[in-house]
Amino acid sequence: MNLYEFHDPRFHSLVLPNAELDVLGDGFRWLEGPAWFPDHELLLFSDVPNNIVMRWCDNNISVFQYPSNFANGHARDREGRLISCLHHGRAITRRELDGSTTILAHEYEGKRLNAPNDVIVQSGNGAIWFTDPPYGINTDYEGGKQKQELPASLYRLDPQTGLLQCVSPDFIGPNGIALSPDESRLYVTETGDQFAENSEHHVKIFDLRDETLTNGRIFARISPGYADGLACDADGNLWCGAGDGVHCLSPDGELLGKILTGGVVSNITFGGRHLCRLFICTGTRLLALYTNTRGIAWQS
Ligand code: MG
Repeated sequence: MNLYEFHDPRFHSLVLPNAELDVLGDGFRWLEGPAWFPDHELLLFSDVPNNIVMRWCDNNISVFQYPSNFANGHARDREGRLISCLHHGRAITRRELDGSTTILAHEYEGKRLNAPNDVIVQSGNGAIWFTDPPYGINTDYEGGKQKQELPASLYRLDPQTGLLQCVSPDFIGPNGIALSPDESRLYVTETGDQFAENSEHHVKIFDLRDETLTNGRIFARISPGYADGLACDADGNLWCGAGDGVHCLSPDGELLGKILTGGVVSNITFGGRHLCRLFICTGTRLLALYTNTRGIAWQS
């Protein structure tokens, strides 16, 4: 099977023809939430149903945190601290430099969050944007079914003041999240109703100015499967996990090409010394591929 599928000549300049897909780990249950730490040259990633956060470093994989409260998405804030989305904990947390954990958000208007899924931090003001679909509390697959109290939504959290704003309730299943390099655009995947046969799913885009999102619209439809995790490269191309691998979209939403991994990709991030290595979480495998582009430091 070919590693690449070219849909636009521009994709040739973004990938390396001689690169191979590296299998860094196998035998997991469902991987998510990769986060790159340039200062330690390590990757953290979640095996969500196994209730564990793993560490990849020096080509070795070891346990970072168990139990993880069914952690999913991760990001780093401006101080380099780990921000986590907890499914079973129904919270956004921050791991402090002394190793303790601070709960940053767990309820909205007196009701518990659902199962925060994925998160990103703005570089300028440190605002934390996260998605809160019901995936994770609507089955017994992860720690037991729990009652959904809030509609699936997108949130903005100001970690300085603690102000939590519901910025877009217009979702069925908001999932992966990314910012454009200049942070003027926010991308969120709509993964729809996991139990419905033909539920709506696409990548949505918003214009972001100061603290406000406007002009929410469909950016791209992904097929086969659905878009889950997202990563923007330094030129503004959007890389999406999909049913057959990783899809690369231009800033205008055109499909440039695909990395064919042989199955579903859940989440991705750029990492490595020059942020040119794409770390790819499938359900059961951790993969990596050197590319000819770079990620954005604060989004890795
Ligand atoms: Mg996700």
